[in-house]
Amino acid sequence: MTFRDLNLNTPLYNALNDLGFVAPTTIQQEAFNVVASGKDIVGIAQTGTGKTFAYMLPILRHLKYSRQENPRVLVLVPTRELVVQVVEEIEKLSKYINNRVLGVYGGTNINTQKQAVAQGLDIIVATPGRLYDLAVSRVLQLKSIQKLVIDEVDVMLDLGFRHQLMNIFDILPERRQNIMFSATMTTEVDDLIRDFFISPEKIQIAVSGTPLEKISQTRYDVPNFYTKINLLEHLLQDSENFSRVLIFIGYKRLADLLFDKLEELFPGECCVIHSNKTQNYRLRSIEQFSEGEHRILVATDVMARGLDIDDVSHVINFDTPEYPENYMHRIGRTGRAEKEGHSILLSTEKEQEFRENIEALMQLEIDYEELPSSIAISDELIKEERPVIKERYNPIKRSQEDEPGPAFHEKKDKNKKVNLGGSYKRQISKKYKKPKTRGDKNFNRRNKKRR
Ligand code: AMP
Repeated sequence: MTFRDLNLNTPLYNALNDLGFVAPTTIQQEAFNVVASGKDIVGIAQTGTGKTFAYMLPILRHLKYSRQENPRVLVLVPTRELVVQVVEEIEKLSKYINNRVLGVYGGTNINTQKQAVAQGLDIIVATPGRLYDLAVSRVLQLKSIQKLVIDEVDVMLDLGFRHQLMNIFDILPERRQNIMFSATMTTEVDDLIRDFFISPEKIQIAVSGTPLEKISQTRYDVPNFYTKINLLEHLLQDSENFSRVLIFIGYKRLADLLFDKLEELFPGECCVIHSNKTQNYRLRSIEQFSEGEHRILVATDVMARGLDIDDVSHVINFDTPEYPENYMHRIGRTGRAEKEGHSILLSTEKEQEFRENIEALMQLEIDYEELPSSIAISDELIKEERPVIKERYNPIKRSQEDEPGPAFHEKKDKNKKVNLGGSYKRQISKKYKKPKTRGDKNFNRRNKKRR
């Protein structure tokens, strides 16, 4: 398939030609007609798959020339780097189109951006916070937005932008097309889609369920978080084999907890990345890990997605991912460049179902290893593991009638009075029906009307 097979126009086709791009990528082929049809859509695609063109090509193909000043397309992205990158991509495609694109993000002078907005534009690419500020200031009018693109929805939600997104939905026209792209499917993404969009069409490049042959996979059944830590302690002591270990865990809070525990056991050997860490902290952690300064890196799925680190000896799945695709992404971080890699999966009783889904996707059973007898089984539970106690009937509990109620007695007269403010002012106004102060000029008029 070439770009000729898509229903493009000459300016777009020529722009692609100048870029030297011949064939649309898989996600571009899949998304083109759906986006062009005007339906809501969720695309699951990672950076590097050509996802920006996947939504921009069909949008530009159908965006008519207009002299109106308010933007018609809004692209929301989580970071300023991505604003810059997406604007660049749009500009590349717009070489032969008369198209006004503007990128706005926080941390820079808002007045300069206000001036730029006032010049008129067709497409605005923005981070949520700054977009909202510009809209509230009324310089930016969103009433003409026909298409809303949310790129990297997973990162957006992981960074805690859900509330901001909801505020923006509130001020956008109801009749619009929603286009979302996400690299990973997470529970948060699922919830957002369920809460705000009516059955969007989902397109996804099938994640290959065929694991790389170079990766050996084993699994353990472990009852809880702290027993998993005990197992890790046992495994990671073998620093010769476990020379560069990437440990995945689904939640930020647990990533921090896991990191703290490991740092106690292996001081100075661990680092952690997740979206609550600053960009600098994350970059430093990745650098320390990839240069071999630190042996162990704890990471959440969303943040570790783009990691390209050589020689990862082991990927340890501290928890079992709910979405089997995430398991494929995780284990793909090892066994790269013709090297051997190992993956270890830890599952609690509750996680067995997810493990079965993963095995079904791969059409392969992961090798089971018995928990070594030296591993202490912990009975300490973290908050998430404790059962939620719902007491239905307790015969020992006293009935409501016996409960002492709030004390009740009549208020004393002096306590019943309501304070109405200065008494002098009230007496005067009663007598003269006239304002005592200038501020109360309408006093008579108001009272006349009432009468
Ligand atoms: P993205 O996934 O949108 O971040 O795109 C990754 C890179 O692939 C960008 O630099 C694009 O310019 C480039 N790209 C997008 N579509 C194609 C294509 N059909 N052929 C070759 N390169 C492409």
